[in-house]
Parts: sequence; structure tokens; C-alpha cells
Amino acid sequence: MSKPKPSGRPVRVRIAPSPTGDPHIGTAYIALFNYAFAKHHNGQFILRIEDTDQTRFRKDSERLILETLRWVGLTWDEGPDVGGPHAPYRQSERTELYKEHAQILLEKGGAYRCFCTPERLDTVRKERATAKLGGGYDRHCRALSVEESAKRVAAGTSFTVRLKVPQGGATVFRDELRGDVSFENEGIDDQVLLKSDGFPTYHLANVVDDHVMLISHVMRGEEWITSTPKHCILYDAFGWERPAFAHFPLLRNADKSKISKRKNPTSINYYRRKGVLPAALRNFLALMGWSFPPTSAPDGTDVSKEIFTTNEMVQAFDLSRFTLGGPVFDIEKLTWMNGQYLKSMSDDAWVTHLQKEVFSETYLRRIVPLMKERVEKFEDFIDKAGFFFSGDLTYDPASLELKGRTRAQTAEALAEAMEALEPVEEWSSANIQATFEAFLAKSGLKAKDVYMPFRIAVTGKKDSPPLFDSVEVLGKEIVRRRVRLCVQFLGTLA
Ligand code: GLU
Repeated sequence: MSKPKPSGRPVRVRIAPSPTGDPHIGTAYIALFNYAFAKHHNGQFILRIEDTDQTRFRKDSERLILETLRWVGLTWDEGPDVGGPHAPYRQSERTELYKEHAQILLEKGGAYRCFCTPERLDTVRKERATAKLGGGYDRHCRALSVEESAKRVAAGTSFTVRLKVPQGGATVFRDELRGDVSFENEGIDDQVLLKSDGFPTYHLANVVDDHVMLISHVMRGEEWITSTPKHCILYDAFGWERPAFAHFPLLRNADKSKISKRKNPTSINYYRRKGVLPAALRNFLALMGWSFPPTSAPDGTDVSKEIFTTNEMVQAFDLSRFTLGGPVFDIEKLTWMNGQYLKSMSDDAWVTHLQKEVFSETYLRRIVPLMKERVEKFEDFIDKAGFFFSGDLTYDPASLELKGRTRAQTAEALAEAMEALEPVEEWSSANIQATFEAFLAKSGLKAKDVYMPFRIAVTGKKDSPPLFDSVEVLGKEIVRRRVRLCVQFLGTLA
């Protein structure tokens, strides 16, 4: 496949994360390729925050995303924190623009108002699902005349604006990694573009912004491929030039399932806490679907090097070197690669890293108050507080034996307790305790049958600093991983 030529448009690419949770490893992966593509073509890399869905929005998440991507070593030319000619870069501050564009689309005949009540929509959705009909909406309001539509607006009836998907035929777009991709229009829903509260859906805001921000290439994860025909219909309806599209393959767990936090930690901060270096992480992510152009080895064979800097990647970057078979996010490989980087780091850099990252002042300040009561000489600190700094723990089977409980029951209680903690967003000791207590009340389990194994799973010890405080300081990702490994360990004993 040839290099996509940006059809004379200056290269401008973007990532558009939604601030809905912990910065995800997939965001860094997509960001890295967009960055490399932009830099290779002397173009611009933009960061835009897509926060119009206020129900999924999590406060603090935007700050974490920006901070974490900077830690990864990425920089952007325009964004909410650095500004730029198309500011604001936060969609919640651009809602008027989307409303105006919904109006333009109505006037152009590319959209229509829908006055259906939520109750009707619900019934229709269910009926269509039972009848196995494509799409969730029956296009009831599409037939309303312009006059009737205007009359209902004047009467104050609440409405949404929907995309008028062409009837019959197919929407075809070119994906730079896959060639032509075609979707039958019949299967595409008349998507809501503007909600009744005046807020846009992802589709409208995304397309309007990509257009007005002059994005030349939309390069995102494969999970968005089914949205692309809707976007193409929108570009066409506005009469705008479509950008080029490329959809990168999804990261996979070792069993080839889509990467998920229950199988692999997916938060970038987990890897940061584990002591992975940003350069190693970038190098590792660069190999997810992409490979370095081969060079000739002394024995005459072609080899594609695995260890390279991001600058080297930028120089060599070419979309044609992608393979689409789901790249496996293999933690062992990442660990091996990190080891290669650590070996080549100077002693000075090691010391700086240990001081800044491993034993950082911020981290120590959180741990010290928990240890003061428990340590008589500083030399005991590492032994007693070691679990705050170590990687995965090993468990003493005897310590996990509980009176009157089988190992399987203990494992189940652990897994259920972790599941109960999953929805906790503000990971504070008080919230963790309240959730634990609610879980105990609901499950009917005794406190000691949950707290003791949980304590051992996350600290490795029967005797540890206060459980909820320790769980808070360790963070959800590490706690989740330790509990999962402990449950697995109990399974191997049973
Ligand atoms: N807001 C979407 C996300 O959370 C952006 C998808 C896209 O790049 O179009 O990933």
C-alpha cells in the first residue's frame, strides 16, 4: 500500500480522548502513532477533549490524561492546556458551534427533527430488536413536513436532531490501512446528532471539530470503524471534504480478546507505578501493529530492529508498515524491553529515577503516616512497608486458610469484594471502607472472612498498616492486580 498522500492538505492529526476514567494505555498507543505521523510529515498534532457526554464525565480525568500523556513523553502543538488557533479545545466549551451546525444541516436537508417521546423510542427499540430489524429507530419523524416540524418547535415540543441516512445503497470510505470499507446504508441508524438538551452527540461534535480544526487524517482505534460511515454521511451532507481515515488494530490480551482491565492492567499510571520507563513504553507501543523497516544483517538476512527511539520511529514512520492482526499487549515483552533500557541507563540516571519516581517525596509522604506507629528503627521500614514499593507479591498458603472456609470460598469472596470496589471513582480510604461495608451487608459475609484475605492479597502480610489506607495508597490498579493474582493462586492450591 502506498503512503497516503495528504491530498495537498497540510498534515493535521488529533487525538480526542473523553475524560471518563484513568488514562488508558490505548490512548497512549493511538496518540503515539498520530504523533509519529504528524512529525514525520512536519505536520501538527492536536489534543482535543471530547467531554460532551456529561453523564460519563469524571472530574479530574482531563488533568490526569494530559499529565500522563506528558509523562509518556508526548507533546502536542494545540490543546486545552497549550491553546492554539482553534481554541477552545474542550468540546463542552463549544456547544454553540454544534447547535449552529445542526441548524445548518436541517436547512440543507441532511437532518430532521425527531419529536418522539423517550417512551415511544423505547418501545420501538424493543420491537425492532425482537424483529431483528437493523437500527434502533423507525424513522417515524422523517416523514414530517418542514411546516409541521416548525409548528411543533413553535409550540415548544421537545425534539432531537437526527441524521438523514440515505436510503438504499452503501456508504464507502477508504481506510488507509484496509482499503475500501463499505457499509450498507440500510443498516445505519438515523443517529441522534443533537440531544433534546441542546448537547451534541459524539458524532456531530467530532465531525464539526475535525472539519473546523482542519484535521487532514482521522487516525483512531478500530472500535470507531462503525461510526465512520455516519461521519462520512455527515461530511457529505455538509458538503465538506472528508479527511483520510485510518483505524488502528485493537490491543489484545494474550488470549486475543480485546484488552481489558480485568486481564491486563490498562491504566498508563499502573505501568508508571510499576517502574516502566516512558521511553521503553513508547518503544513497546510502537511495535503494536507497526514494525521498523528492515535492514540487512551481517548474514544477509533482513531484520527489523525492535529497540529504537521515538525519533527514529518518526523518521521511519509509514502507515504501510502496519499489520492488522490484533497486536498482543504482552506484559512480559514490555518487561524485557524495559530491562534493556534500564541496562543502558547511566548510574546518575538510575539514582535520579529512584529518587524522583520510586521513592518520590509525594509517595513517601503518603506512606510515612501509616508506618510511624509500626516501626521502631528505620531499618525495619523496608521490611514493613516493602509492599508499597514491590511488584507482584508471593503468598503463604497457610496465611490464606480461614477457619470454616474453603479456599474456593475465600477466592470467591476476594473476587466479589474487588468487583464491589470497581465502581469507586474517588479512591479514598473513606469511600473504600464504605463500599466494603455495603458489600459485607449485602453479601452476608463476615468481616473477618473478607478483610483478612484482602489484607493478605494486597499487602502480603497478616499484620499491615490499616487496610483501607493501604488500599488507597496502593491505588486501584495495583490492588486489582494483586487480588486477581491471589485469587489465581488460591485456585492453583485447590
Ligand atoms: N472521543 C473519542 C474517544 O474517546 C474519540 C474517537 C475519535 O478519535 O474519533 O476515543
